[in-house]
Amino acid sequence: MSNNSKYWVVTDLDGTLMDENYDISPAKKTLELLSELNIPVIPCTSKTASEVRYFRKENGLFDPFIVENGSAVYGFNASRSSEWELILGKSYKELRNILKNISNTLNFHLTPLNDLNQNQIFELTGLKEQAIIRALDRHWSVPFLNPPDEIFEKVKLICDNYNVHVFKGNRMSHLLSSNSHKGEAVNKLKVYLNNKDVRIIALGDSQNDLPLLEYADISIVVPGKNGPNKYLQNGIDKNLFRLADAPHARGWSNSVEDVIRNLKDL
Ligand SMILES: [Mg+2]
Repeated sequence: MSNNSKYWVVTDLDGTLMDENYDISPAKKTLELLSELNIPVIPCTSKTASEVRYFRKENGLFDPFIVENGSAVYGFNASRSSEWELILGKSYKELRNILKNISNTLNFHLTPLNDLNQNQIFELTGLKEQAIIRALDRHWSVPFLNPPDEIFEKVKLICDNYNVHVFKGNRMSHLLSSNSHKGEAVNKLKVYLNNKDVRIIALGDSQNDLPLLEYADISIVVPGKNGPNKYLQNGIDKNLFRLADAPHARGWSNSVEDVIRNLKDL
């Protein structure tokens, strides 16, 4: 990827580019168009680096990628022979301890994803075998089962004491360092690639995408089948975020093509 791109598409994967079956096929044509226009597509996801490396290979993407909700950023050098890494977060081990302390304070057991057995993970995620191994390869964040809303609100308050924060995705919540979120990771990547003027077209569907959507220049909320996520509604109401006209990859595609059509300086 060149260091002087004018635009980056920075996109969440689960629920945004992918539907609940991890299908992105309605967006394939738009991904090809972006590649022809030399607009980088940067995955920005709660998934692990192992998962995103696999996803990129499957879908012919070569640009940098942001993982574990903004805790780390990866990319390849120009010859694609070696990978670089930027770390924003706290280690998995440290975060596990903090999650345990929060559970104790609340007297409510917050269950890490990595403590579930293969069947339970399949039930929650639909993932199997190698895909589960990739999903559990965590280094900078701890995903845990979504607690009830009132517990989640209490967790948020306690987090301040430990310099961590939590984000709620579709299938699970994520604990990570308060120095890391999706918006901060994009900023770090801009600095690293020495491209402070690049304009960010961001797409997301959940609460964990809020820092990305707030950071971006053009922010698109991709709805689910029952409409947009409640945590993103406020930004839509205030006209800070655009709302895609269809769920997942279809809405993703329509919105990205609409934005590109209206860019004067491509
Ligand atoms: Mg998502």
